[in-house]
Parts: sequence; C-alpha cells; structure tokens
Amino acid sequence: MSIHFDIAIIGAGAAGLAAGIFVAEARTNCTIVLLDGAGTIGSKILVSGGSRCNVTNAMVQPSDFHAPARLVSRILRRFDEHATRQWFESLGVELKEEPTGKLFPTTNKARTVLNALLGRCKELGVQILTHHRVQSITHTNDQFFIQFPEKQIIAQQVIMATGGQSLPKSGSDGQGWSMAKSLGHSVSPTYPALVPLVLANNFIHAGLSGISYDAAIITRVNRKIVDHRVGSLLWTHFGISGPVVLDASRFWVMANGQKEDVRVSLSSFPNKTGEDVDLWLAQASRQSGRKTVGSLLAQELPARLAEALCRLSDQKEKVEPRKENEKTVTENFASTPLNQLSQSKRKDLVHTLTDLSLPVIGHRGWNFAEVTAGGVPLHEINPQTMMSRKMPGLYMIGEMLDCDGRIGGFNFQWAWATGFIAGQSASKMLKVPSIFPGQA
Ligand SMILES: Cc1cc2nc3c(=O)[nH]c(=O)nc-3n(C[C@H](O)[C@H](O)[C@H](O)COP(=O)(O)OP(=O)(O)OC[C@H]3O[C@@H](n4cnc5c(N)ncnc54)[C@H](O)[C@@H]3O)c2cc1C
Repeated sequence: MSIHFDIAIIGAGAAGLAAGIFVAEARTNCTIVLLDGAGTIGSKILVSGGSRCNVTNAMVQPSDFHAPARLVSRILRRFDEHATRQWFESLGVELKEEPTGKLFPTTNKARTVLNALLGRCKELGVQILTHHRVQSITHTNDQFFIQFPEKQIIAQQVIMATGGQSLPKSGSDGQGWSMAKSLGHSVSPTYPALVPLVLANNFIHAGLSGISYDAAIITRVNRKIVDHRVGSLLWTHFGISGPVVLDASRFWVMANGQKEDVRVSLSSFPNKTGEDVDLWLAQASRQSGRKTVGSLLAQELPARLAEALCRLSDQKEKVEPRKENEKTVTENFASTPLNQLSQSKRKDLVHTLTDLSLPVIGHRGWNFAEVTAGGVPLHEINPQTMMSRKMPGLYMIGEMLDCDGRIGGFNFQWAWATGFIAGQSASKMLKVPSIFPGQA
C-alpha cells in the first residue's frame, strides 16, 4: 500500500514538530505528515530540564555549540532566542528567565511546551502518525519512498529529524544516521555528551554524594589543556555530575574513544590560581597559626569535602618521599595546625585543591547522556535552507546533525532554529500546485 504526501517529516521530537508547524504555517495548501516510531510523542521533551523543559537561553551564541561557528551563526541568526520567545508566546506558552539565563515555561511543566506544539500541529492539520518506524528511504524520479514493514509513504520532500542516540528508549537510537548514509551522507563518529562521569571505586566520591559546589574542570589531552570550565559540580555515588561536568564530559568521552591520553582534573578553588591559594594558606598560617587546615578549608568548602581533600593530600604525602628534616604526619591531616604545615605539605595541599587528578574510568552511557556529539557534518547541509547538499528535496535538522550545545537550553534552540529554516524552505520548494492529495 502506498500513501502520498507532499512533505514527510521523519521524527516528531522537538525539531520535527517545529518543522511541521513552520511548513504548515507557511503553506496551507499542502499535505504534511510527521512519522515517529514511538507510541507516544515527545517523551524527551517531557523529561527535559528536570521535567520543566529549558526551551532556550537568554543569550545564545555560536560559541555555545560545538560545530563550525560560521555555519552555526548563519543558522541561529535566522531564528534566534528572541524568535523562540515570541514563538512560544504565540503558542500560548509564557516563559520565565532564571538567573542562569535559562528560559522555562512559567508553569514549570514540560507538558505545557509539548501540549502547545501538539495543539498547533492539530490546528494546522499536520498529521502525526505514531508507531511508524521508518525502515529505509530511497529516492527515484524526484520522489522519496519511505518504507515501513507493511506500507510505504511517497513524498515530494523529506525532512529528517530522527535525533541522535541519547535516551534511546525515547525512540532516538541512531537509526536515522544509517538512512542518511544510504542517501549519500557521511556521519562523523558519535559519542554521548552532556553525560555524568564515573570515577574509580576507591576514590572519595561515594562519601561526598549529594554535595554540590562551584568548581573548575580541566581536561588535558596528550598533556595539552583542551577545555577549562567553571560551574556547579555535583558529587554522586558513582562519580561526578552537575552542569560543569556535563559540559566538560564530551572532551573526555571523545578523547577516550579515540584512545588518546586524556586526563581530567578538578580545582575546588575555580577562580583562584595555585599561587593565590598558596598565598592564602601562608597568610592564614601567619595570622591564625593554631587554626587547623581542615577548619580553614571548611570556611571556603563544604566541611565533608574539605576533610576528604585533606585526606587525599595526606595520602599523597605518604606515597611521595619526604625531605629529611620534615616531620612525619601520623594524625589526621585535617587537624594539623596551620603553623605546622611544612612548605612541601602546603605545596601538595595546593595541588590537591587546585589541580586534583580525577580517576575517570568511564561515563554513564547513552541512557544518561542528554545529547549526542557527532552526526551528519554541517558542511553537507546548506545552512540557508537545511537542505542536503547531496540530495535535493532532503532536509536534515536537530540533533542528528554534528552540532551539540552546552547545558542551558541551547540544544532545543538548535532544534527550533533548524526546524524553522527547513520548514520555511521545504514549503517554498514544493511544486505548485501541490501534487499529492495526502491521506492517512
Ligand atoms: C534527559 C534529557 C534532558 C534534556 N534537557 C534539555 C533541556 O532542558 N534543554 C535543552 O535545550 N535540551 C535538553 N535536552 C536535549 C534535547 O532534548 C535534544 O537535543 C532535543 O530533544 C533533540 O531534538 P530532535 O528533535 O533533534 O531529536 P529527538 O528529540 O531525539 O527526536 C527524534 C525523534 O525521531 C524518532 N525516530 C528516530 N528514528 C526513527 C525512525 N527510524 N522512524 C521514525 N521515527 C524515528 C524518535 O522516536 C524521536 O521521537 C535533554 C535531553 C535529555 C535526554
């Protein structure tokens, strides 16, 4: 059985829904279908932003994304964060800006966002077919043949919005890339990004689970710093998470995947250099020498963390040979008075506080990754239209492209913006008058 549509959109996630709406708004006399393998639409939108859906950010710049800045910029300026705000307002979704710049619906419910998108599709007559997992797409005589086990859909134009591989149970399992390849595209190696990192079992994290504070994460590949960022870090039972770790994770994941020598270190004094911290310790020792190391650190850090870092620094001391005239530390290092802190002990402590090497042994995988790094390279897509440079009539949008944003609403902004451009272009490129009647 064959069913005809003017435009078929494969994948009804954020990008696909946006594209469907923008096609239908731009052109009323055409038939549009959104095809999704999932039984219910929008499960990723519903879990996003802690079920609140961080739809965009107050300020979105190309540097918030990992992709060629020139291309990202050309895409984002067609539909920026202000356009996103206005669009959601037009859909009846009021947004509020939080101090971090993240924008959420005022209801604090992702459901508000999803309902607005689905409601608009309905108003515009965009058909959404669930349980329609596309097996393959072929192209002959200016028509796309979209294959299912028991039927095919024939479309004049196809917008692929099949997402990446993050949260595969939502339906985004990477199959879209195989179809993109079969249509002549390449796919850059893909990795989980915005993903928590797992630390070696015997490290300090388990005892610190639940503690969150501002820290810096520094990633070195082959001894060169490739990323240094500051933000909130959360210690967990398996390792580390929180925005700064999620944002940094792609560097460890990709370098590790490519068998590079990659190391991650932590500064618990993110806005201070090692010299600053050394000076602070020396000064404190002069001014209040009887104060213990632990209590001084606890002025700046959560007490449990201060103690754990003291323990680590102490262990390091015991492993490394001591200078002859130095006293041996036998008691808990945290309770050592500052005026008994030798220079070499202070040096070790400074190192532990500002450049502590973390024993990263893995990441939490696709089920916990918020986004995918890698995908169809942007240079294979025309940024003016989101149309494939390999196959006329085919468009690619959203997370399936090789562009991932940092935490803060940037990935949804990418989905809306690419959906907008593809929707507008596809509506303009349709043959006039519409050649397909459209039937479900
Ligand atoms: C837990 C979590 C929280 C997040 N929170 C935020 C946030 O607050 N802010 C933010 O900006 N980003 C967030 N993200 C990232 C954001 O959700 C994604 O980048 C965005 O949803 C990608 O949209 P998309 O439409 O490109 O892909 P997806 O949303 O993945 O949609 C792809 C759709 O394609 C369908 N599909 C796949 N293959 C086929 C096929 N062969 N046939 C038919 N259908 C198919 C899937 O079923 C799916 O519905 C979060 C992600 C996760 C996992």
